[in-house]
Amino acid sequence: MHARGMLGVALAAALFVVPFVAPETAQAATYPSWDEIQRSMQNEQTKQQEISRVQDSLNALHTQYEQATEALSQRQSEFQAAQQKLQQQEDATNEIRVRALAAAQRAETLKSQAGRAVAQLSRSGGTDLGNAVLGTQDASRTLYRLGAVSRISESTRNLASQATSEAKSAKALSAQATTAEAEYRRLATEAQQKAAAAQQAEKDVQAALEAQTANESTLETQLATLKGETEQLKAQRAAGIAKEQAERAAAAAKAAAALAATRAQAVNGNLSTQTPAVSSGAVGYPLAVAQVTSRYGMRLHPILNVMRMHYGTDFGAAYGTSILAIANGTVSGVEGSTLTVRHVVSGQTVYARYLHLSAITVRLGQTVSRGQSIGRVGNAGLSTGPHLHFEIHVGSVSYGGGVYGSSPGNTVDPIAWLRSH
Ligand SMILES: [Zn+2]
Repeated sequence: MHARGMLGVALAAALFVVPFVAPETAQAATYPSWDEIQRSMQNEQTKQQEISRVQDSLNALHTQYEQATEALSQRQSEFQAAQQKLQQQEDATNEIRVRALAAAQRAETLKSQAGRAVAQLSRSGGTDLGNAVLGTQDASRTLYRLGAVSRISESTRNLASQATSEAKSAKALSAQATTAEAEYRRLATEAQQKAAAAQQAEKDVQAALEAQTANESTLETQLATLKGETEQLKAQRAAGIAKEQAERAAAAAKAAAALAATRAQAVNGNLSTQTPAVSSGAVGYPLAVAQVTSRYGMRLHPILNVMRMHYGTDFGAAYGTSILAIANGTVSGVEGSTLTVRHVVSGQTVYARYLHLSAITVRLGQTVSRGQSIGRVGNAGLSTGPHLHFEIHVGSVSYGGGVYGSSPGNTVDPIAWLRSH
């Protein structure tokens, strides 16, 4: 007993758990979730940030490229200047070398001239000198000649000495020029290397620029794709939601209709939609097809929404449907849309009352026979739709304490009465 009770609880719990889970998962599969769209938008944002970084890098590269181009131009003009200087130095060095060579040659010539003069003097002077010592020659002429020779050789020696000095300094100048030339050559080479490096740097920056430009282009394409994906997800979600809302609205309308039907049933009680059988041939139903929509007795009024006595039975029927006399009798009342017919059934006087009629086709005092058409179904008075409100009063027409009271007065349940007669 106890175990069975626990099993019951477990079963109930299981039954409760399953319906809560299933619709959620089923619903999630039909269209993209907001999270999915958020993720897609996040992807876009990430891509956009990546593009921004690449653009920053591109801006920096553009600046670098300008600087590299400027540096290259600077290095190239420096190289040109260095080459020019080297050229000038080479020309100067060559000139100095030529001069040094000329000076050396001149010194050489003068030296040999001086040497020849001295040799001549010593040869002739020696003879003359011997003559002079011996006294056979004119001494004063000899002395004069000696002096002249001496002066010539002196002058030549001076010239030779000067030329030698000149050649020496020209050689020194030439050596300096050669050193200077080497230095200018070194500078020119260095300038050339710098220019080449600047050119390479410019090329590198240009390559980086091209690569980053291509990168940006790729990223932009990817971003466009991501945006397209997001748009697609959004459209799918909007369509999914619209469809779901339409389905919900349809389901809600259906549920509302079902609920309204259930409420009507609840208000009217547990009713049969079939025409109730009548016990004998003495009386018939007030409609050919008698479909009960509200029973006799205490009920919640559908319009006033208060508990009050329902003095008759309501039969649902289309507007204009013929209303039939339930037995042979006499018309005893015609008041607005209400018709009253007096009958004597099994020695008992009863009054049948028909309400909400759209037409009354009999006169007061007219005799009617069972099944005769006496009026038409309508919607007159306090009514929610076309129907016949049908009452049976026993002995006389009386509503007891009043129309809105709880006392039945002389009324009885029409269905019960019809069945029993
Ligand atoms: Zn009624």
